[in-house]
Parts: sequence; structure tokens; C-alpha cells
Amino acid sequence: MKLLQIENLRTTFQIEAGQVQAVRGISFHVNKGESVGIVGESGSGKSVSMLSIMRLLPENAKIEAERLTFDGMEVMEMDHKQMRRLHGNDIGMIFQDPMTSLNPLFTIGDQIMEPIRIHLKLSKQEARKKAIEVLRMVEIPSPESRLHQYPHEFSGGMRQRVMIAIAISCNPKLLIADEPTTALDVTIQAQILDLMRDLKKKSNTSIVLITHDLGVVASMCSRLMVMYGGEIVEEGTTREVFYSPQHPYTWGLIRSMPKVSEGEKKKLIPIPGSPPDLLSPPKGCAFAARCEHAMKICVQFSPPPVSLSDSHRVACWLMHPKAAKVERR
Ligand code: SF4
Ligand code: MG
Repeated sequence: MKLLQIENLRTTFQIEAGQVQAVRGISFHVNKGESVGIVGESGSGKSVSMLSIMRLLPENAKIEAERLTFDGMEVMEMDHKQMRRLHGNDIGMIFQDPMTSLNPLFTIGDQIMEPIRIHLKLSKQEARKKAIEVLRMVEIPSPESRLHQYPHEFSGGMRQRVMIAIAISCNPKLLIADEPTTALDVTIQAQILDLMRDLKKKSNTSIVLITHDLGVVASMCSRLMVMYGGEIVEEGTTREVFYSPQHPYTWGLIRSMPKVSEGEKKKLIPIPGSPPDLLSPPKGCAFAARCEHAMKICVQFSPPPVSLSDSHRVACWLMHPKAAKVERR
């Protein structure tokens, strides 16, 4: 059963220099109870695509889609009231830096209770009870006394737990986690991922996990999409993408993964070169300038997606039967 369905989503930002084509025609879906990862470098369109779905972008953004439905509802046609419901109630979001999402001037209790009171229409007493319950769910010790504290009194890991508590407090159908562990050290990162896995098991919430770290999705998601230059260049089950990756960019991502045996989280070794300028995206494959396998056709035409199985798709000329015959030696 599909919870989120997106077809041909395009998001452009109008700036002085022209139009930045941040998301360039992506299609995907998330099933009920499923965890899907979106992987790619910064600027590849991961966050923008999710923010587009939530219609949480600045005014200079233009969002177009042939289809954008959440739980059977047309998101593009929702009015203000429906969008509000969608945000706090149906979809919860967790961002990389909880310090910027939490208000330093209000206690944690106030910040957890506010959405609960609005969306679940509970009294102050009931909201307090619910707040304590969700803080317990995210394993914050002595939640009763923590309610009265301010964000700066929490550690980074604890703040991220509070953000998760807020995000799940209204029992969302979908949780969007945008680099939820990037700012945390490796031990805390593992704890937060464990916690999310646990919550998912208990509540059957769908999760979209946005990350630049392939290791993080491997442990969390059953399916994943690799984004590059505003497009999905490869998608498949986690197993397919890890054990049988077919796109040169995915190869690069996997090569640059820190080895588990190295213990500590190391910075990823970046793939040489820089991402395409989305003010004037290349005519052909967006990865061509950095690809060691680039052929003539790659700079002339954008590679169409090729299906390798029911779930595995890749957009690369190497995989295209025609191009491969002509150009591969
Ligand atoms: Fe490389 Fe060509 Fe495939 Fe693009 S289409 S990833 S340039 S081989
Ligand atoms: Mg981002």
C-alpha cells in the first residue's frame, strides 16, 4: 500500500542569475511501514525534494509534479488547514541540527506539548502526560523534571532525542529524517539509529531517511535511492544497490564508505570533481564530467532509466543495451 507517491517532481528556484533546477523530474513512492533512504552529496536535491513534498520552501521556489499524493490526498491541492494537519500530524520531521529547530527561549516541555495540544486537541494535563510518555519512548531519563529545562541544558544527542519525541508525538504516518545523525558522534549516532529502528518496529511508521552516508541507510532502510544533480540515478532494494550497484556514482559512494573495521567515523573520501551547476545543468548525463567511464553519448543525451529488476533501476548509458553496443570497447 503506497503512502507517498511522487511522479515527475520538479523544483526550481528563481534567483537573480536565473533558475536553479534543484530537483529535475524525480518519481518514487514510499509504502506504508517502509523505510526508504535517499543518498547523495549535499546539493543533490535530497532535502529539497522532501521539503517540496511538504511545501516548506521559500517563495522563490516553484514546485511542479504530475502526481504528489500522501495517503491518497493530493498535496498540491491542499489548503492551509490541511497542510497544517499534514505537517504536525501526518508527517513528522527531524533535521540535522536540533539546536536550530528548537526554540532556545522555551522549555522542552512547552515545545513538545504545543503540537500535541494543537493536533491531538488535548488539555494541558493530558498533553503533559503524553509529553512524558514520548520522552520516555525516546529514552530520556527522568522526563518529568526534564520537561522544565531549556534546550541548552541538553546534550546534542539528547536534543536529537527531543526532536524525535516532538516528531513522533502526534503518531505520524511518515517520519522524514534529514541527516538526523550527521552532527553527532559515532556512539550517539548508533544510539539514535537504534532508537528510530525501535520506534518503527513498535509503531509501523514509514521513514524517509536522507543522508550522505551509505552506511546509515544500510542499517535502517529496505530500499534506497541515489540522487545526483537533482535526479535519481539509481534505486533499488538496499541489497541490490549495495551488492550489485550499477551506476558509476554509486560505485564512487561505496568506495568512499569508511570501513567498519576502522572503528571511528571518518570523513568520506569525496569523489573527485564537483557537482553540476544546476543553473545550467548539462544536456547529457549530469555525472559525465566526473565519470571515468563517460562515452560520447553521455555528454549528448541524458541517460533514460533502465530497469534491471522489479525494484532496481539505473540511469546510465553503460546499462543501456543500445549505447553499450555502439560505444563500449
Ligand atoms: Fe558515466 Fe555515461 Fe553512465 Fe553518466 S551515463 S554515469 S557519464 S557512463
Ligand atoms: Mg540537505
